[in-house]
Amino acid sequence: METFVLAHNYQRPDVQLMADTVGDSLELALEAREIDADRIVMCGVDFMAEVVKTLNPDREVVVPDHRAACGMAMRLRAKELREFRREHPDAAVVAYVNTSAEVKAEADVMCTSANAVEVVSSLPEDKIIFVPDGNLAAWVQKHVPDKEVIPFPEHGCCPTHHSLSPSDLRELCSQHPDATVVVHPECPPEVCAMADFVGSTSQILQYCEKKDVSKIVMGTEEGLAFRIRRETGTEVIVPGHMVCPDMKINTGEKVERVLEARHTPEPLRVELDPDIISQVEEVVEEMFRLTR
Ligand code: SF4
Repeated sequence: METFVLAHNYQRPDVQLMADTVGDSLELALEAREIDADRIVMCGVDFMAEVVKTLNPDREVVVPDHRAACGMAMRLRAKELREFRREHPDAAVVAYVNTSAEVKAEADVMCTSANAVEVVSSLPEDKIIFVPDGNLAAWVQKHVPDKEVIPFPEHGCCPTHHSLSPSDLRELCSQHPDATVVVHPECPPEVCAMADFVGSTSQILQYCEKKDVSKIVMGTEEGLAFRIRRETGTEVIVPGHMVCPDMKINTGEKVERVLEARHTPEPLRVELDPDIISQVEEVVEEMFRLTR
């Protein structure tokens, strides 16, 4: 059976080294549309595997460990979004990729951190409900000031990125005054305001490559450091606490086990309701249409 392995930039080095493609959520979704292997192994967290399944409903999509679930995505339920939407009937709903398939099915369009500003700018509506990351919503609002961006739920955030405080960053910068500061837009707005560059994981990697940056203080999950060091030779300083426990559940050993298994154990197989698949597919394809 032909198998294709996808891995997110936050995965452990041994997992990244086993993958056919490593990337951010947008790159993985783009790649997932082109795969023609019988089986796809998605090394990341639950919502990433769901997007891959949506784009490959007839292929077997498997994960190395079914417990890898995004803490931020888990906190928002479809029912809550449906009710909130009713209070803002004139607003479009933009779902960050870090949401469950059921939540995406309630939205008008999906976005990733690489294209959130572009997606929101391209919509005809002036009012946007943005779920579930309040920090990314604030970043979008800053760059699309002519629209009203309403974050939902209240206090929605990624625990890993939200844990980076301005004082943590100031301290690291004082220890490394020669470093360029790059952060992910899931970080708090005050942290983003201190950075030389704000972008998705792959945009950070491209920034280091293009600008030939020799040293960075990096405000995102530490897994990206491996790829940046390996591909650009940039020295990377990461705050010690920026580790997403869910992203680290997958290991090279677990990926190997999945690759060697004749039959994938049921909990590792990604299954979605066909109605949800078709609704999510529309929301994902709308993102591709708006950002073409
Ligand atoms: S880093 Fe944050 S947003 Fe990404 S999977 Fe972990 S908890 Fe979710």
